[in-house]
Amino acid sequence: MGLLSGKTVIVTGASRGIGRAIALYCGDEGASVAFTDLKADDFLFSLEKELLAKGVKAKGYASDASNYEQSQLLVDEVAKEFQTVDVLVNNAGITRDALLMRMSEEQWDMVINVNLKSVFNMTKAAQKYMLKQRSGSIINISSVVGVGGNAGQANYAASKAGIIGFTKSVAKELGSRNVRCNAIAPGFIVTDMTKTLSQEVIDEWFQKIPLKRGGTPEEVAKVVVFFGSDLSSYISGQVLHVCGAMQT
Ligand code: NAP
Repeated sequence: MGLLSGKTVIVTGASRGIGRAIALYCGDEGASVAFTDLKADDFLFSLEKELLAKGVKAKGYASDASNYEQSQLLVDEVAKEFQTVDVLVNNAGITRDALLMRMSEEQWDMVINVNLKSVFNMTKAAQKYMLKQRSGSIINISSVVGVGGNAGQANYAASKAGIIGFTKSVAKELGSRNVRCNAIAPGFIVTDMTKTLSQEVIDEWFQKIPLKRGGTPEEVAKVVVFFGSDLSSYISGQVLHVCGAMQT
């Protein structure tokens, strides 16, 4: 019996990086896993295969989390196929970095839509099933940048700070029906998102992190398992930093 046996988990943006590790860890803990990505490509199919090989139910869906209609349809489809919606992990996210003076309206809108509106879209769709079940756990992937800000990332920081306000509000709205909502604020996690930085910049960050290294996607995934499982049954409305004591 795994920590998530009998539960259906939905993870957005799971073909790569942190989302992929979350899907795999949830599968290891016995969850049925429905996951999304923008495209139905080799990454999506290989994750589905890897999950099925663990002996759990799994299905990958091409769905844009920033699109309201697609998100409602997706969650309805998952509920039909998997019977329950127990854990929602809002992980899909992008960066479009620029200093404010050079940031375009498009860069602002894209990041807010993919990182923040997606959380509204998916949570709105999933909550109706969770309320009926009188149980559920919503886990939103924010960032330490949403707490402390970062030069060159005003759009990203605003989206991640917005997620925190949303998380705390939803925890208050849905708590009486036994639906919990928490956020995780990762620090520097080594994925494709951070691979765009030069080695020099990466080394500089590592020097500033008390644990002297970046985190791994698996180190974030373990916290998702904690929030998704009954181990955290009395925890809601919280933001847990997974950042090696990095200063925010
Ligand atoms: P990543 O490696 O770039 O992966 C992001 C995933 O999201 C990709 O699979 C991508 O799909 C998918 N995606 C993008 N837009 C989407 C959309 N509209 N609908 C559905 N899926 C979409 O990023 P990551 O580093 O794993 O980051 C995952 C989450 O953690 C993000 O929310 C990010 O902001 C957050 N985070 C990351 C770090 C870090 O240091 N890496 C730190 C703090 C927080 P494609 O493959 O199609 O592009």
